[in-house]
Amino acid sequence: MFKRLLPVLAACLLTACAGTAKAAPDTLDAIAVDFVKLTLEAGVREDGYVDAYYGPPEWQEAAKAAPREQAKLRADARALSARLAALPLSRDPLVQRRRAFMAGQLKAADTRLSMALGEKFKFADEAEGLFGVRPQLKPLSAYDPVLARIEALVPGDGPLSERVDAFLNRYVIPADKLEPVMRAGIAECRKRTAAHIAMPASEQFTLEFVTGKSWSAYNWYKGNATSLIQINTDLPTRISWAIDLGCHEGYPGHHALNMLLEQKLAKGRGWVEFTVYPLYSPQSLIAEGTANYGIDLAFPLAEKLTFERDVLFPLAGLDPATAERQVVLDAAREDLAGARLTIAQLYLDGEIDRETAIGLAQKYQLTSRARAEQSISFTENYRSYVINYGLGQDMAQAYVEAAAPDQDGRWKAFERLISEPTQPADLLKR
Ligand SMILES: [Zn+2]
Repeated sequence: MFKRLLPVLAACLLTACAGTAKAAPDTLDAIAVDFVKLTLEAGVREDGYVDAYYGPPEWQEAAKAAPREQAKLRADARALSARLAALPLSRDPLVQRRRAFMAGQLKAADTRLSMALGEKFKFADEAEGLFGVRPQLKPLSAYDPVLARIEALVPGDGPLSERVDAFLNRYVIPADKLEPVMRAGIAECRKRTAAHIAMPASEQFTLEFVTGKSWSAYNWYKGNATSLIQINTDLPTRISWAIDLGCHEGYPGHHALNMLLEQKLAKGRGWVEFTVYPLYSPQSLIAEGTANYGIDLAFPLAEKLTFERDVLFPLAGLDPATAERQVVLDAAREDLAGARLTIAQLYLDGEIDRETAIGLAQKYQLTSRARAEQSISFTENYRSYVINYGLGQDMAQAYVEAAAPDQDGRWKAFERLISEPTQPADLLKR
C-alpha cells in the first residue's frame, strides 16, 4: 500500500494537484496560440500585416468576426511578452531559441501596432523594433569607389546610371520567352537546392505574371508545401532575374524556408506560431537575407555565368558571347546594395524629399528613372523593411561562410537557418 501511495504523492508535489492548484501553469504552447490569434486580428486591422497563414481556418474566421482594436492588441502583445518573460527557462537549446524567436515577434507586433496607432519612429528605431537588428548605415559617399569601379566596366559619355541601364536593357527577356526562361531558371535553382536539402515530396509552386505592383516578385506561401510565385512585368524583365528570382522566391529562398518551417516546426513539433508569418517581424530579416544569399550559395559566380551563357541566353534568343560582361557588371552592382538602405533612411527621416530620393536611387542603384521610382514606391510602402535585403544578406552570408569553408558545410549551415527558430541575433553568434 505504501509503495503504491508514494508515486501518487510525488506526482502531486510535482504538478500541484487538485485542491491546491489555482490554475494550470503557463506554457510556451499556450502563449503561441494567443500570439497566432493576436497576429490574425492585427492582420484584419491592417492589410499586409500577415504575409502567410496556414493554421486552423476557424481561428482566421474568429479573427475576422471580432478583431480587437489595435490599442487593445498592443496592450495584449505586451501582456504576452510579460507572460513569456515569466516562464521558467528550458534546458533544451531549441526551445530556448523558440522562446527568443517569440520574444522578437512580440516586440515587432508592439512596434507595428504602435506605428498604426500614430507613433513615429526614426528609421533605425523602427527597423530595430520590427526586425530585431539596428542597421549601421554608411554615408552614400562610401559607395563612390564602387561607382568608379563600375565606370571602368561601362565607359562612355553621359550619366553612369543611363549607360548601365542602356547596357542592361540589351539583356531583357523577350515577352514570348519570359515564361520558359523563368521556369528554366527556377528549375535549376530547385535542382541545386534539392542536391543539399531534403524537401517534402509533394512540394510545388504556381507561377503567375502580374502588373501594378511596387515589388519585382513575391512568394505567397499557401501551406502544405505550396507557394504562389508572382512576377511583376511592369518593367522589362532582365535575364539575370531568372536565377535571382528563382532562388530568392523559390529555392533555397522563400518557398524552401516556408515549407521547411512548416514541415519541421509547425507540423513536426506542433509549434503553432510558425503557421503565421507577420510580415513586419524579425522573421523577414531571416527570410529576405537567406533568400538573397541563397542566390550566391546556389550559384557561385563562375557557375552562374556558365548556366546563364549555356542555357538561359540561347533559350531567350540572346547572344551567349555577351553573357560574361553582364554577369560581371551585375556582381559589381551588388556592392551598391547598402546604398538603398541609406537612401531609405534619408527619405523616411525627412532629410531629403521624394525627388532627391529618386535622383539618388538612380545614381547609387544605377537604374533608370522608372526603376528608381519603383524603388522609392517600395520604400514608401514597406519603409524600413528594405534593411532585410542588403543587411539580412550580409548577416546570412557572414554566418554561413564562417560556419564552414566548403560548399557542403555551408549548405548545412544554411539549412539550419531556414528550418529552425532563427532570429537576427543568432546570425551574430559565430
Ligand atoms: Zn523576398
